[in-house]
Amino acid sequence: MVRQNSGRRIREEKQAVGYMIALYCQRHHQPRHSRSTLTQNGLPQNRCPENKQTLCEHCQDLYDYAMQRLTLCRFGEDKPTCAHCPKHCYRKDYQRHIRQVMRFAGPRMIFYHPLIAIRHLIQHLQSRRTR
Ligand SMILES: [Zn+2]
Repeated sequence: MVRQNSGRRIREEKQAVGYMIALYCQRHHQPRHSRSTLTQNGLPQNRCPENKQTLCEHCQDLYDYAMQRLTLCRFGEDKPTCAHCPKHCYRKDYQRHIRQVMRFAGPRMIFYHPLIAIRHLIQHLQSRRTR
């Protein structure tokens, strides 16, 4: 029986990862001013990472994979941020992709989603201290 995480920590981590993938995909894989990124009234529909249409196929795949890893993370609510996790559970190709995403989106999160970025940073520091 596999335990499925649904606690606050995991939910927050999912949210942060979702935002970062969306940010990365928008800047790297979506043509500027393309119709696919605009809603019918001409507004960008990229505000919400849960909106799957904003992700390209490749990033959607990564997103689904990341969500699955978090749901099944063996550390659950005691989970350190992924960068500090002693168990690198990502498959090699996904690991490469998520690293690129983090490298790009990590520093930018403070501008786009400051609260999430700060929360993530605090958890990051906490998980370093307890180690
Ligand atoms: Zn993409």
